[in-house]
Amino acid sequence: MGSQTFDKNVEAVFESVGVTRRDFMKFCGAMAAILGLPPVFASRIANAIEREIPFAGEKRPSVLWLNLQSCTGCTESFTRSDHPSIAEAVLTMISLDYHETLLAASGKSACQACESAMEENRGKYILVVEGAVPVSDDGTFCTIAGKSGVEYLKNMSEKAAFVIALGTCASYGGLPAAKPNPTAAQSVDEFVSPKTVVRIPGCPPIGDVLMATIVHFLFFGKLPALDSENRPQFAYGKYIHEQCRRHYHFENAEMVLGFNDDEYRGGYCLFPLGCKGAFTKNACSVMRWNMGTAWCVGSGHPCVGCSEKDFWDKFTPIYSLVEGRNPK
Ligand code: SF4
Ligand code: SF4
Repeated sequence: MGSQTFDKNVEAVFESVGVTRRDFMKFCGAMAAILGLPPVFASRIANAIEREIPFAGEKRPSVLWLNLQSCTGCTESFTRSDHPSIAEAVLTMISLDYHETLLAASGKSACQACESAMEENRGKYILVVEGAVPVSDDGTFCTIAGKSGVEYLKNMSEKAAFVIALGTCASYGGLPAAKPNPTAAQSVDEFVSPKTVVRIPGCPPIGDVLMATIVHFLFFGKLPALDSENRPQFAYGKYIHEQCRRHYHFENAEMVLGFNDDEYRGGYCLFPLGCKGAFTKNACSVMRWNMGTAWCVGSGHPCVGCSEKDFWDKFTPIYSLVEGRNPK
């Protein structure tokens, strides 16, 4: 951790974390594909990361990561994503100056690291927020070094270039905001105005989506295209239903009615078991998890709609159909 100048010999840096040139090029190819860019962009992204990014020769972009009312699953998802060593490499491309879970320092020195990074990178750093913001009882349900999370968020977002609300809790309130919401948990954007808050929802979110958003910013010097809810379009442009391998069975009304029936074994549509894929936008079926091998529906479980605003209060019970909604 800590600020470093951008070294031309990125390859050596990557090697030091066990990433070969081949892995690196594969990663750049994957990032280009995720961002919807033609394959030729893979080598351009590699060049940009190695030499041409807007920050070359300068200090690396500073990222401050604030954990509020969270389970730390979003951090786990990012650091243990499809390419764990690549995640480490991306963390080498940026300067992760503050992250409560990963920071080696603690107590006053951790707070000082945060304060100095904010001052040194005023108006330029990326603030990633994980978790919801509890506001009841003056925010006492989430405090950091004696100050409320709300206070931290307001202060840190004020000096940031932009904010990424990572995960469903930060994006929409998520589990902490589910009824009866005893801590009055809210989404991050309620406290960050008028700054751009990029939402990357999911419980947890897909680590590669955060990586691709950061790579896009490094490469183009700006954020990727966002939808009306400020989610990156490259990942949230389509419903899971539209990209599901079982869609053919949905069209033919070939449905699974029980977890142990022949239709289940045949890989038919899980809609009657409460699948929310028709109401959920995310790239799970395309990007997948566990080294690109698996995702919920692919593994035989209905989509629970974890990346949607209505998750928990309107998308539960998990194994029931969503009231008043029918897939198109
Ligand atoms: S979005 Fe899910 S994984 Fe992330 S902090 Fe909230 S509960 Fe945990
Ligand atoms: S309802 Fe679920 S299982 Fe069926 S096609 Fe849609 S996403 Fe796939």
